[in-house]
Amino acid sequence: KKIIIAIDGPAGSGKSTAAKNLARKLNFTYLDTGAMYRAITYCALQRGIADDYDAVVEMTRNLDLKLRFENGVTRVFVNGEEITDKIRTAEVNSKVSEISAIPGVREEMVKLQRAIGKDCNLIAEGRDIATVVFPDADVKIYLTASLDERARRRFKEYQEGSVNISFDDVKANLAKRDEIDSGRDVAPLKKAEDALEIDNTGLTPDDDLELLIKKIEA
Ligand code: C5P
Repeated sequence: KKIIIAIDGPAGSGKSTAAKNLARKLNFTYLDTGAMYRAITYCALQRGIADDYDAVVEMTRNLDLKLRFENGVTRVFVNGEEITDKIRTAEVNSKVSEISAIPGVREEMVKLQRAIGKDCNLIAEGRDIATVVFPDADVKIYLTASLDERARRRFKEYQEGSVNISFDDVKANLAKRDEIDSGRDVAPLKKAEDALEIDNTGLTPDDDLELLIKKIEA
C-alpha cells in the first residue's frame, strides 16, 4: 500500500519547506497543491476571465496541468508551456484565494491530486489535504506559526528574489488569504480532527524537520 503524508496550514507556515525536506529524506513524491491553484489563477488572469467563474471552471476542465518536482523546485506546465515563475507574482497572490473558492475548480484539482496519490508514496501539502483530498492519510500534520513570523519569512523570500514589496503589504496579503481560505464554504482551511498540530514559530527549518520526523516515527 502507498503511504500518504498530509501537511496543511496557513500561508507561510513552512509547509513547503518541511514537505520538500521530508520528501527528500524519505524519498517520497512531493505534491505542492498550492502550485496547482496558482496555475489555474495565472491562466484565468492571462485569459482575462478571472471574474467569470463559469468560464474559469470550463477552462480548468480543459487545461493540461502538469507538475514536475526537480532539484527542489516544483516546475509547473500548462498545455506544455512552463509557468513555474509566473505563478508566484503579487497579482496571482492577491487573486488565488478567490479562484480557489470556486467549487468546480476544487473538484477538478482534487481529482488530479487523488490520481497522483494512487501510484506513489506521497507528501502532499495544502489547505484541505487531510480533511478532503486524503482523509485516510497515514500521517496528518497541521503546521502553524504566528502571522508576524509567517510574514517575516515570506518577506525575506521576496527580498532574496529582489521583489520590491513592503513588509506590511506581505503581512496584509497573508492575513487576507488566511481569512478567505478559512472562511469559504468548500474545503475551508482547518485542522483535521486527527491531525497533529505543530506551531513552528521561532524554529529553523532544520528544527522543524527534526520535530516532524520524531512525530512521524512516534
Ligand atoms: O500554498 P500556497 O500559498 O501556494 O497556496 C496558494 C493558495 O491556494 C492558498 O492561499 C489557497 O487559497 C489555495 N489553496 C487551496 N487549497 C490547497 C492549496 C492551496 O485552496 N490545497
